[in-house]
Amino acid sequence: MSSAYLQLLDATIAHLETLKGLGVGWVPVRRDTLLSIASPSLTPLSSVARRDIAKTVSPAFQNSQSPSIPSENLASASPQSSVVPPAVRSEAAMSRWSKAVAVVPSTSSSFQTSLVAAPLPSPLPPEARAAAMAELRSQIFACSRCSHLAASRQSVVFGVGDIHAKILFVGEAPGVEEDLCGEPFAGPAGELLTKILTAMGLGRESVFITNLLKCRPDTPGDSAGNRKPKPDEVSTCLPWLERQIDLVQPRVVVALGASAVEGLLGKGTAGISQLRGSWQNYRGLPLMPTYHPAYLLRNLALSEKRKVWEDMLQVMERAGYPVSTKQRGFFLTKD
Ligand code: SF4
Repeated sequence: MSSAYLQLLDATIAHLETLKGLGVGWVPVRRDTLLSIASPSLTPLSSVARRDIAKTVSPAFQNSQSPSIPSENLASASPQSSVVPPAVRSEAAMSRWSKAVAVVPSTSSSFQTSLVAAPLPSPLPPEARAAAMAELRSQIFACSRCSHLAASRQSVVFGVGDIHAKILFVGEAPGVEEDLCGEPFAGPAGELLTKILTAMGLGRESVFITNLLKCRPDTPGDSAGNRKPKPDEVSTCLPWLERQIDLVQPRVVVALGASAVEGLLGKGTAGISQLRGSWQNYRGLPLMPTYHPAYLLRNLALSEKRKVWEDMLQVMERAGYPVSTKQRGFFLTKD
């Protein structure tokens, strides 16, 4: 049994409990890390798992009062010393761990471990919300957890709109245009989103718009290109989005495209074409998956526009906005 390892685990649990107390609902931990800890057999933690635990307690997610782990303890977590000791697997230790992070078995026959984001905290009053959002903005602007993205970005794309909005839209990641101007949905897809909002009787200023990633996924050697975010980039950045949602507390979340759906609902969810149009549950909030506007720019069929519009009609109703007869009839002409 390694006392260094026990110290590391205790400090990790204490840190998670501190974050939870501060209202943080989610921290990225790799599935194999959780499996290493939850497994009933004595399994050495992989180097990735050990690194992941170390990342969990990294300063980027600390709001200040979090405990720190002496660096020598991290350094001494050699493969041999990282065998999970029986004491750590005791009921009490596992109970503390599972209270710190929710570990749930899936309904499938094979055991799967995934993090379940905590329910939303109580909403803040308007002034406190504005202050917390400003603080969050400064934290995200200073973030360099993805060193490669922090090095290549022109802007950190925080999000725009009303922090008291009833509807919060989540896209994938900033592209070239967004990176240059610092606003999400700034290019052609953004213009289409603005048109959709206008048809809903809303504007960009009356909803909140953001992305899974706050920095443009880099495309070395191709400054004009865009790429899909990698899973580790999504899991690293996701806590920022979680916090934005904690603060805005919209009535409805709209996930635009497959990446946003997968980022918010987790891997293993059905494809966007199967999920779109049907309400999902995101931490107790209704979440509507729908196609990304960029998809509608590639697929010009009126039938696809109508599908997105039908999703928006549902969103309007759920958010409490009136829907006119004229609005119900949009895109019903056959193509
Ligand atoms: S993508 Fe997110 S986590 Fe990564 S550096 Fe940018 S803000 Fe930080």
